[in-house]
Amino acid sequence: MYDIEEVRKDFPILRREVYGRPLVYLDNAATVQKPRQVVEAMADEYYNVNANVHRGVHFLSQQATELHEAARETVRRFLNARSTAEIVFTRGTTESINLVASCFGEAFMREGDEVIVSEMEHHANIVSWQLVQARKGIRLRVIPMNDRGELLMDEYEKLFNERTRIVSVTHVSNVLGTVNPVRRMIEIAHAHGVPVLVDGAQSAPHFAVDVQALDCDFFAFSGHKVYGPTGIGVLYGKESWLDRLPPYMGGGEMIGHVSFEHTTFAAPPLKFEAGTPDYVATTGLARALDYVSRLGMDQIQVHERDLTHYALERLRRIPGMRILGEAAEHDAVVSFLVGNIHHLDMGTLLDRLGIAVRTGHHCAEPLMHRLGVEGTVRASFALYNTRAEVDALAEGIERVSAMF
Ligand code: PMP
Repeated sequence: MYDIEEVRKDFPILRREVYGRPLVYLDNAATVQKPRQVVEAMADEYYNVNANVHRGVHFLSQQATELHEAARETVRRFLNARSTAEIVFTRGTTESINLVASCFGEAFMREGDEVIVSEMEHHANIVSWQLVQARKGIRLRVIPMNDRGELLMDEYEKLFNERTRIVSVTHVSNVLGTVNPVRRMIEIAHAHGVPVLVDGAQSAPHFAVDVQALDCDFFAFSGHKVYGPTGIGVLYGKESWLDRLPPYMGGGEMIGHVSFEHTTFAAPPLKFEAGTPDYVATTGLARALDYVSRLGMDQIQVHERDLTHYALERLRRIPGMRILGEAAEHDAVVSFLVGNIHHLDMGTLLDRLGIAVRTGHHCAEPLMHRLGVEGTVRASFALYNTRAEVDALAEGIERVSAMF
C-alpha cells in the first residue's frame, strides 16, 4: 500500500484552510486535485519546449510533437488499447460522447433506429443522443434499475430488437456509485451485433480499465478526473469503428489533401482532431497517468473501496440518514439525504466546517426523478482521502443535523 501522508504532500492544495479550518475535499467525482508532478511538467513544457505540434520542421516543434505523441502512447498503455490509432484526444468525456453520437448517428442511424442508455446516465450521455434524435428521429430506450441502484439485466436484454444500433452506458454512476456489469452488457450487445460505448468518467480514475478485456467499442474519460489538467479527455475507439466513422470537425490536422473540389481525410486518430490540440494538456495527462500507475490502480481501488465502505457504515449510524445507491458493487461515491434537511442547506453548512461536498442533481435529472428526490448531497473519494476525513464528514453531518 502507498504511504498516504507522503502522497498528500504531492497535492499542495490539501494543506489549505477554508474558514480557518483544514480543507476536507470530498468533491472528487466533480474534479480531483492535481499533484505537483502534473503542474510542473506543464509549466516546464510552456517554459522550455512550447511550439505547435505536427507541422514544424524546427527543433521545438519536433520536441513538442514527440511529447504529444508519447502522451498518446501513455494513454494507450493505461487503457491497454491495441494501437495509438485508437486513442483520440478530445476536451473530455462530454466531447468524446458527443463525437460518437454525432458521427455514429450520422453514418449508421436512421429514423426509428434505437440507442440503449440507462436510467442512471449523466446528461452528457442523454442529451448527446437527443441531439441525434432531433436531427434524425432516432429513439432512446432506457434500461431501468432496482431501488438499490442496480440495472435490471433482464429488462436490458428485452430492449434489443432489429432497430437497436448502439448501447451507450455509464461504467460507474456519478450519483449512486454503482459499478455496472459492463463486461456482461457488452457480451449481450455483441451477441445482437450491437456496439457499445462505455462512459468511463467515473471508472478510469478508480480502477484498472482494460478495453481489450472489456471488448468495448468506445470508451470515454476525462483528464481532470484522473489527476490531469482540465480541457483534455480521451475517446478510445476500436480501429475498425474509427475507420468507418465520418470526421467530427473540419480544419487543420485532420486532412490528407485539400482542394476546393475535393478533400481527403487523415487516418484516425488525427481524422478526429481538427485544429491545434492542447498539446501541453496531453503532457499533463500523461504525467497524471504515470502518477496513478506508479501508485498502482489496484492499490488506489483497495484504498478507495475501504474508504467507501467505512463511510457507508459510519453514515448509516446517523439518525435520519438515507443513502441513495446501495448496489452490491459500489465505487467511491456516496449520495445521501438526512431527515428533511435540504441538500443545499446540508452542503452549505458542511462547507462552513471546511468540508467540500457537492449538492444538487449531479447532471442526472432523470435519475433524480426515478429516485423521487430533487437532489442529493454527494461525498466522493480520491486516492488522497483518509478515514479521518470521513470521520470529519460524519461529525459534520451530525452537527448540521443537530441544528435542524
Ligand atoms: N459522465 C459521467 C458519469 C460523469 O460523472 C461526468 C462528469 N461529472 C461526465 C460524464 C462529464 O464529464 P466532463 O464534464 O469532464 O466532460
